[in-house]
Amino acid sequence: MKHRIIFTACLVAPFLSTFAQLQPSKQTPESTELWSPIPRVVTAGTNTPALSGLTAPSDAIVLFDGKDLSNWVMAKDGVSAPKWTLQDGAMTVAGGTGDIQCKQQFEDFQLHIEFRTPAVVDGTGQGRGNSGIFMQGIYELQVLDNYNNPTYSNGQAGSIYKQKMPLVNACRKPGEWQSYDVIYTAPRFNKDGQMLFSPYITVLHNGIIVQNHTEIRGSTPYVGLPTVAPHGRGPIKLQDHGNPTSYRNIWVREL
Ligand code: MG
Repeated sequence: MKHRIIFTACLVAPFLSTFAQLQPSKQTPESTELWSPIPRVVTAGTNTPALSGLTAPSDAIVLFDGKDLSNWVMAKDGVSAPKWTLQDGAMTVAGGTGDIQCKQQFEDFQLHIEFRTPAVVDGTGQGRGNSGIFMQGIYELQVLDNYNNPTYSNGQAGSIYKQKMPLVNACRKPGEWQSYDVIYTAPRFNKDGQMLFSPYITVLHNGIIVQNHTEIRGSTPYVGLPTVAPHGRGPIKLQDHGNPTSYRNIWVREL
């Protein structure tokens, strides 16, 4: 046992010293914001009646079909009914009520989700149509209105928040429905809680690739660096960031 402890310490010590060097003396939100380069703008294909609201394939798990919120709960306790509003086949963040998550837990999956930032533009930067989709409840794919709305690149729509900027800016205009198609591979941990494989994510925004097999380096905090903690299966979590962003047509295929 003694040898094993020494061996483990030898493995971990270099990483701890490296990590210590990376830690700024004082963390602020700005210390992890990347403002340059800026993703170039690509105009997405337009919604047509045939493409709008792409229906779920036969083997998908439908998490939201516009009829009810029965597959969702408040994220803060994982039990109580969502306080978000349901209208015209869409659910909308009721600002201040809190994040929601689906009841079902997933590991590797394909996700289709449609979102709409508010038609009435209110706020700037991170305060405009902000929401987010958390893979396994932990790793945020940013939802934001970045149609002529600059913010830090690694916090734009389609970014892995504060980790990886999108390849391009594929945002539609405020008030228009948009889609994310996600391919996600969960991390794997050994029995001692060490991460053997990072999570990876590929994202198409309105059919345009914005993340191409991107390694996710850990959690996606507003302040500070990503952290890694072992976990098992997890839900899809949707963020309440105070803006009335809407969602519809959410389905998952387990991989
Ligand atoms: Mg967000």
